[in-house]
Amino acid sequence: MSTVIEKLREYLDKAEAEQIRQLDQLVAATGLPVYKDPKTGALVWVDVRELRLRFQLSVNKIAKFVEGLSQERLYYTVCKRCGAKYFPPQADCPRCKASDMEWREVSREGELITWTVINVKPASFAHNKDYVVGIVRMPEGFNITAWVDADPSALRPGMRLRLVVGRRPGENYITYWFRPAQ
Ligand SMILES: [Zn+2]
Repeated sequence: MSTVIEKLREYLDKAEAEQIRQLDQLVAATGLPVYKDPKTGALVWVDVRELRLRFQLSVNKIAKFVEGLSQERLYYTVCKRCGAKYFPPQADCPRCKASDMEWREVSREGELITWTVINVKPASFAHNKDYVVGIVRMPEGFNITAWVDADPSALRPGMRLRLVVGRRPGENYITYWFRPAQ
């Protein structure tokens, strides 16, 4: 059985092969990798050289956040000097510049402020069905932006949503999202 990362790679390779085929046709026909955007009519240059990028970010200063996720808990930080609260957690306070933070667990319910349905997805999410991204006000006073696992027609501003931390179905890595509270 192939892993999620392998499956995603396969999907992207296939999509990319199709793009390269189109690019080859374009260059063969016109001599230039330039096409007219069908929506705007603007000329677009497609670079024939590819840049591959996989980010590696240090999470050393927010190790508690990572540890929390592995236990299916979500943590935020509170600045011990000025009291500012941060989610996603910050290790250094942008407000007062202190680096003395307390870690606290995020509440399990919040209130939906607004949402959008993503129909046009970034390449690495393109294998997903259309999904809902919402902004949720938490009792702590900060907002969390995350997927909302719900039928968009059932969503209302102000409705109560439950925070879920766990393995994302179909992808198997641990993340967090919301669903309507019972
Ligand atoms: Zn501070």
